[in-house]
Amino acid sequence: MKFIIATHNKKKLAEMERILNPLGIEVSTAQLQEVDETGTTFAENAYLKANAACKETGLPAIADDSGLAVDALNGAPGVYSARYAGEYATDIQKMEKLLHELKNVPKEQRTARFVCSICCVFPNGDCITAEANCEGTIAFELTGDGGFGYDPIFLVGEQSFGQLSDEEKDRISHRGKALMLFSQKLQEYLNN
Ligand code: IMP
Repeated sequence: MKFIIATHNKKKLAEMERILNPLGIEVSTAQLQEVDETGTTFAENAYLKANAACKETGLPAIADDSGLAVDALNGAPGVYSARYAGEYATDIQKMEKLLHELKNVPKEQRTARFVCSICCVFPNGDCITAEANCEGTIAFELTGDGGFGYDPIFLVGEQSFGQLSDEEKDRISHRGKALMLFSQKLQEYLNN
């Protein structure tokens, strides 16, 4: 069975492909309409994107909605992570805004987590969901140039996600864990 990955984010797509392909889940991409992410939770937005892609292509579609929740900011930027510094802001601008907001917050209060919600919608309307978190802290400065988004300021222990290899990030990341859970649920679904 072939799945469409419903994302316009090339870096996210690369992560999803490199995690799902070794699990035997065959994925491809398509030119998809932009979907308004009007949900108030990651799960709602993942469903909106997967459902729209499934309707558009007629194929089962997998979407990821994810973001960074910072405790000192009451969970912001959360579902607004991609648009935190405006629709066209760069990753650097988003990280600078976040570091600025946290400039007076001491190390022990800089706790945060990445959240990833996966949703797969089938043409018959069936739906499989999976969600996972990765706990960490927000650094005082950018380190490492791997990954994407907020990776250079998200620390797990002393290292930022931006300093990890792809394999190291996938093993512990919100997306790696959510996709592993999703693949288990998919196997159960396909076996029934
Ligand atoms: P959306 O899921 O398309 O709404 O966008 C999620 C946004 O959250 C991305 O554009 C990134 O800014 C951020 N994000 C999600 N996952 C990661 C990650 O693994 N590393 C860094 N930033 C991430």
